[in-house]
Amino acid sequence: MQCPRCDMPLVTAKYESVEVDMCEQCWGFWLDSGELQQVLTEQALTFSAEESDLVLGARSAWDSGPEEPAACPRCSRTMQRLSYNESVHIVIDRCAEHGIWLDTGEIKKIQAIAEKSKDIHRMLLAKLGI
Ligand SMILES: [Zn+2]
Ligand SMILES: [Zn+2]
Repeated sequence: MQCPRCDMPLVTAKYESVEVDMCEQCWGFWLDSGELQQVLTEQALTFSAEESDLVLGARSAWDSGPEEPAACPRCSRTMQRLSYNESVHIVIDRCAEHGIWLDTGEIKKIQAIAEKSKDIHRMLLAKLGI
């Protein structure tokens, strides 16, 4: 598979003990259907309240992320854009069949949100259909 942002081959990496595909150039992550849930439920890496605020507060660098939807690295179709959370700007590119693409930093923000509120976490997973 190739990175939908920079066409570099994705490499297999471990994130929170889950195997994901990662781009070493832009630090984006590809997660096959179901893998995000695994990452979020593993919670091997936990944040303190202060760390969560830091992660969520450091949004300026990530807000300048790509505006264009990515193409699915498995089927090349343009992915659907979903807002993961309205209060924190995270946009996820999702292929209904294959999985989701997370641009740089997004996986950490999602994890911080998930750890802050189990209710938000459940609601978001349902919304994403994973
Ligand atoms: Zn890339
Ligand atoms: Zn696809």
